[in-house]
Amino acid sequence: MKETLEKLKETSIDLIKNAVNFDELEKLRVRYLGKKGELTTVLKGLGKLPKEEKPIIGKLANIVKLEITDLLDEKIQTLEKKKLEEKIMKESIDITLPGRRLDPGRIHPITKILMEIKEVFVGLGFAVVEGPDVETEYYNFEALNIPVDHPSREMWDSFYFKPGLLLRSHTSPVQVRVMEKQKPPIKIIVPGKCYRRDSVDATHHWMFHQLEGLLIDERVTFADLKGVLLEFARRIFGKERRAKFIPSYFPFTEPSAEMAIDCFACNGKGCNICKQSGWIEILGAGMVNPKVLKAVGYDPEIYNGFAFGLGPDRIAMLKYRINDIRLFYDNDLRFLEQF
Ligand SMILES: [Zn+2]
Repeated sequence: MKETLEKLKETSIDLIKNAVNFDELEKLRVRYLGKKGELTTVLKGLGKLPKEEKPIIGKLANIVKLEITDLLDEKIQTLEKKKLEEKIMKESIDITLPGRRLDPGRIHPITKILMEIKEVFVGLGFAVVEGPDVETEYYNFEALNIPVDHPSREMWDSFYFKPGLLLRSHTSPVQVRVMEKQKPPIKIIVPGKCYRRDSVDATHHWMFHQLEGLLIDERVTFADLKGVLLEFARRIFGKERRAKFIPSYFPFTEPSAEMAIDCFACNGKGCNICKQSGWIEILGAGMVNPKVLKAVGYDPEIYNGFAFGLGPDRIAMLKYRINDIRLFYDNDLRFLEQF
C-alpha cells in the first residue's frame, strides 16, 4: 500500500510539472483528487487495512494529497503568469519602428498677406470688422450710392440667390452696417471674400479677397488718406517706396483716386512686373461721398472721412511675384509649400 502511494505521488508530480495548459491540469486534478480519483480511492480503501497500518497509510495519503493540491495550485499560478506575459508581448509597441511623419500645416499665402496687412492697419489704430458673405441688394448697392441701372447690379455680374439677395460683390456693405450702428469716429478695416461672375483667368477669379478701410471723423483731409496709405505701402513693399495718386471714379467716394507705388522690383526704372511703366497700381481710395454719409444718418457738414479698397490677392501676387491668381485656389501643395 505504501509503495502504491509512493508511486502515485511520483507519477502525479511528474505529470503535473509537465502539464502545459489548464485543460491538462484539470484532467490531472480529476484523475487523482476527483470523486473516483486514484488518491480518493486509496483513502476510501483505508477501512479495509489492518488496524496497525491504518494511521501510517492514512497519514501518508494525506501528505500526498496535500502535496498534489499544492503543486496543482502552484502550476495554475505559473500558467496564468505565462499567459499574461504572452499577452503583454503581443500588445507591446515596437519602439524601434520609425514613426510616421506629421507634416506641420502652413499658412496659405493669402491668409499670410491678410495677416501682414491687418497688422499694419491695427498698428495705425484701425479695428478689424467682418460682415456676412450673403448680402442684401440694399447694403451691396443702394446704401453705397450704386443706382439701379448700374451694370454691376445685373444678374450676369453677380451671384443672386433670389431678387434682393446675393453673394456680396465687394466688402463695402460692411462699412454701411458699421456706420448704421456706430457714431463717429470710425476707424475700421474690413477683410473678406467677394464674389463676381468673372471668367477665371490669370488675374480674375469668381471668388477673391478684398480689404476695405474706412475712417470717419471731423475735419479729415486728403492728406490723412495719403499719409495712412503711404505708410501701408511702405510697410508691405519696402520703406523707400514713393506713391502717386491718379484721379479715378468710385460711386461711394468723391474725389476718388488710384494709388500707385514706384515699382519695388526695378525701383521705377521699368521692368516686366510694372509693365515698363515704373509704377504699380495697388489700391483705390477717396473721400467718402457725402451721399453715403447722409444715407446712414451722419451730418456731412460735421463729419467726413476717407475709404479705400485693395485686393489682397493682387498684393500677394505682387509681393510674392506670382503671375497667376488661379495658383492660390488650386490646392497644389507644390505651390503652397513654398510659403
Ligand atoms: Zn518694375
